[in-house]
Amino acid sequence: MHTVVLGTGLAGLSAAYEIAKAGGHVTLVEKENFVGGMACSWKVGEYWLDHGPHRFHSRDKQLVEHFYEVLDSEVVIRERLSRIYMQGKFFHYPLKTQNLLRNMPKRILLKAGWDYAWIRFVQLFKKIPDDNFENWIIKRFGRTLYEIFFGSYTAKAWKMPCTEISADWASQRISQANLWDTVKKTLNPPKDGEVRSLVSEFWYPATGGIGQIGRKYAEKLEAMGVEIHLSTPVTRIEIDDDGMARRVIGTRDGQEVAFECDEIVNTIPLPRVLEAFDPGIDAEVHTAIAALAYSSIVFIYLEVDKTSVSPDHWVYLPEGHLTIHRISEFKNFSDDSAPGKKTVVCCEMTCRLGDEIWNLDLESGSEIAIKDLITVGLIEAGTARGIDIQKLRYAYPIYDLTYKENLATLKRAAKKVKNFHTTGRQGLYRYNNMDHSIAMGRRIGKTIVKGSDARADEVAAGQEYFG
Ligand SMILES: Cc1cc2nc3c(=O)[nH]c(=O)nc-3n(C[C@H](O)[C@H](O)[C@H](O)COP(=O)(O)OP(=O)(O)OC[C@H]3O[C@@H](n4cnc5c(N)ncnc54)[C@H](O)[C@@H]3O)c2cc1C
Repeated sequence: MHTVVLGTGLAGLSAAYEIAKAGGHVTLVEKENFVGGMACSWKVGEYWLDHGPHRFHSRDKQLVEHFYEVLDSEVVIRERLSRIYMQGKFFHYPLKTQNLLRNMPKRILLKAGWDYAWIRFVQLFKKIPDDNFENWIIKRFGRTLYEIFFGSYTAKAWKMPCTEISADWASQRISQANLWDTVKKTLNPPKDGEVRSLVSEFWYPATGGIGQIGRKYAEKLEAMGVEIHLSTPVTRIEIDDDGMARRVIGTRDGQEVAFECDEIVNTIPLPRVLEAFDPGIDAEVHTAIAALAYSSIVFIYLEVDKTSVSPDHWVYLPEGHLTIHRISEFKNFSDDSAPGKKTVVCCEMTCRLGDEIWNLDLESGSEIAIKDLITVGLIEAGTARGIDIQKLRYAYPIYDLTYKENLATLKRAAKKVKNFHTTGRQGLYRYNNMDHSIAMGRRIGKTIVKGSDARADEVAAGQEYFG
């Protein structure tokens, strides 16, 4: 039985690894000339660069053991520090009561307290629906904190009003259930190691940036005799009259390359793979595809003439007068990522494919990033320069108010092909983390090896906190 895996991000690699370890025949086909997908790293000078901050964390002990196995235990553990920069001050994120009390002007604190009490009072008489991102947060934190910390950042990063964003996103990404929980957690920090590690610790490869995970998978797969076909975008999937996919067609150097298959594991964007189906999908699926949007990101990498810009792994910049919405510093993830006396700051700007931000080049993007960092007070003029620019088209699936129905249409079309398994962040149009993609890939691998459903679809499907 031959399984063809489409895409070599962490979902594809982990699926192939599971199959190959069980002695199965598996081949990977990848569009790019490198493995790792969004969680790849590349070297510029002496620096290892990632697509923004990538921390690996999981509550699943077996998954963490697997992470160590793949990386041959060459792992560092870091205490997470991430903050929000607002009105000249740094606020811890997730929110911490003492830090809020210290940094927030008293007038705003009083207003936040009043708003919170008011919204709790209102809920004694009236049910506030969790029907969009704004309502979800206001219900739990009150309007003032929503406007300061959640609404401004989210509207800036997503480039759309928060009332048009599904509440799913809030429930998966906001760690505290409500303001009172935040206060309780600060006054009485959890002693349970599990909760602590979920929020405050993470794992990272000791060398080679986050992309080391993908490279290590590939190294181990090739040692088991698995073929990885890079620079081979998948362009067609031939399906027979019985609803079975029989061949995957890719393009390499302008020539078609065919892979016979018994099973397919798909991890490339679901809309794109459905468009490759032959015979083609029907009009209803095309309409649903057109309605599913993505948020893209432009990353500008600045080399800065000082050992460190901030102690944070990343900092959110929600204020509208700044173009960048988040910065990260790889040195704080691993010394190996920026070993010398200088450092690298990664500046992210969300955008839509083809807009003004998307069309920036390194020079114009660096100008914006440097200006913003000077405004925030993190660097001085003349001490930073752009060294790289990257663009991620499929960075975030947009959870608008209709995405669920549209996604269901796509999933139904995918299910019609009996030997086609779609998984991972792109294959499921799901806003999940690396650990989830690895868990999904491993479960799909098990499903294929054992012939019984290992329920990959259930990973990251609920209301758990993704942070
Ligand atoms: C800015 C940012 C920060 C993040 N931070 C974190 C974090 O801190 N912690 C965390 O756990 N997660 C984080 N994530 C999420 C994490 O990167 C993803 O969940 C994970 O890497 C997804 O892996 P995947 O294999 O599911 O998808 P991908 O990595 O997207 O893999 C899909 C693969 O398919 C390939 N492909 C696409 N089209 C074709 C084609 N036609 N033919 C062949 N191949 C194709 C792609 O090149 C890619 O290799 C972050 C993501 C972003 C964007």
